[in-house]
Amino acid sequence: MKDCIFCKIAAGEIPSDKIYEDDKVVAFMDIRPVSRGHALVLPKLHAADIVETPDDVIADVMKQAKRIAVSIQHALNADGFTISTNRGEAAGQTVFHLHFHIIPRYRKDGLKPWPHQETEPRTRTQLAEEIKKHL
Ligand code: 5GP
Ligand code: ZN
Repeated sequence: MKDCIFCKIAAGEIPSDKIYEDDKVVAFMDIRPVSRGHALVLPKLHAADIVETPDDVIADVMKQAKRIAVSIQHALNADGFTISTNRGEAAGQTVFHLHFHIIPRYRKDGLKPWPHQETEPRTRTQLAEEIKKHL
């Protein structure tokens, strides 16, 4: 897609530190890493986010994301990794071409876990009921 930075990186029109590429998937290093070795894995097909992307494409990307994440962990001697994707500005999405973050985790990386909240059992049940109506 014209004017999409990740389409341009995937096509080699903008330079990146590529880790992996096949006919459907590309992976490269994040320019502003959250941790040492932070990489992005995405489809070459342009789609704004996970909801807009066909399931078979997501499957191709996730298969490679898992493989690449394990390789990053081994290569960089990390202690684990987080794989995530953002949908929408409210979730922190800034580039609107689906991508999965692979964030290597180190025991002392200083990254804070998401803050958890307490909930009433009744509230949880109500929320579950609301969600089930939309499945
Ligand atoms: P989002 O906030 O959309 O989930 O993640 C976008 C990610 O893309 C960010 O982590 C950001 O650092 C990365 N990023 C943005 N522009 C570029 C770029 O031009 N090159 C590379 N390699 N990463 C980028
Ligand atoms: Zn794109």
